[in-house]
Amino acid sequence: MRAAVLTDIGGLDRLAIAEVPDPGPPGPGEVRVAVRAAALNHLDLFVAGGLPGIDYRFPHVVGADGAGVVESVGAGVERVRPGDRVMINPGIPDRTCEFCRAGEQSLCVQYRILGEHLPGTLRGAVLVPGANVAPIPDLEPALSWAEAAAFSLVTLTAWRMVTTRARVRAGEWVLVWGIGGGVSLTALRIAKQLGAKVIATSSSDAKLARARELGADVTLNHATQDVPKEVRALTAKRGVDVVVENVGAATWEKSIRVLAKGGRVVTCGGTSGPMLVTDVRRLFWGQYTILGSTMGNDAEYAAIVGELAAGRLRPLVDRVFSFSQVRDAYAYLERAEQLGKVAVEIPPS
Ligand SMILES: [Zn+2]
Repeated sequence: MRAAVLTDIGGLDRLAIAEVPDPGPPGPGEVRVAVRAAALNHLDLFVAGGLPGIDYRFPHVVGADGAGVVESVGAGVERVRPGDRVMINPGIPDRTCEFCRAGEQSLCVQYRILGEHLPGTLRGAVLVPGANVAPIPDLEPALSWAEAAAFSLVTLTAWRMVTTRARVRAGEWVLVWGIGGGVSLTALRIAKQLGAKVIATSSSDAKLARARELGADVTLNHATQDVPKEVRALTAKRGVDVVVENVGAATWEKSIRVLAKGGRVVTCGGTSGPMLVTDVRRLFWGQYTILGSTMGNDAEYAAIVGELAAGRLRPLVDRVFSFSQVRDAYAYLERAEQLGKVAVEIPPS
């Protein structure tokens, strides 16, 4: 079976198309999905560069997000049948630990993500737990494979960040950094659905124009404008209630500075660097809350699939690459020119 694999860590020149063993039939509770498209996330770039804590076994099959056709199901799987078109939730919990039993699967002590801790979706077929697939809702127009593949990781991540963790409410001010990325774009859309006033930033005026089309109340070019100063002016010196972060080192200090008293910062990553400096005097005097968030639980995944079925949060796909162009797809994502998701189509084998 053909797969996109890393032959080593270190960069995109270690990415190749190779033959890998067929994953075989599904075991009890598992589903075998013929993958028709995968979508890339910043996580995939981190995995290619080398992440501490991953037990890499090369060749390492990449890709977290995917969608395809159920080929066969193992004993005990009832929610899908062979032939169903499904999206894959890439976060795989052990379903036994105290957090799983409490319904908080993304807090699982053995939480694993496809393409990171487990072989990924950029191959002809993948085995996943039955609980990790959801039938693709019927929409008009129908979702493409690329759109379906682009749905799960960023929508789940943004949903938990904005609703469960930051608890954004109608009328609140929310600042979202770097609107080109999938999590940021989706966080903007969710915050607007909740009735918040959203300030979106980008270094690209074209992306800011798109953000306004998607409902951003205010857009700021963080390359040419002083974001904290502009936010103070916009909010009569008050600041914003919530900052949605995934940039990290380059923006963190400003994220704290733009908060209103009692404000919250919610973060799911640090694309510009992981080590952050926080002035504790600002933190306690402002009585701020710093919230970490990753992926989401089963109830949140069901909620976002429901949103999609209701015609909301349809994935925004920027560009679709062919399977043989997978390295070009990674390079395109690395250049951060995209507005929305980057997907890779996988031909039926
Ligand atoms: Zn668990």
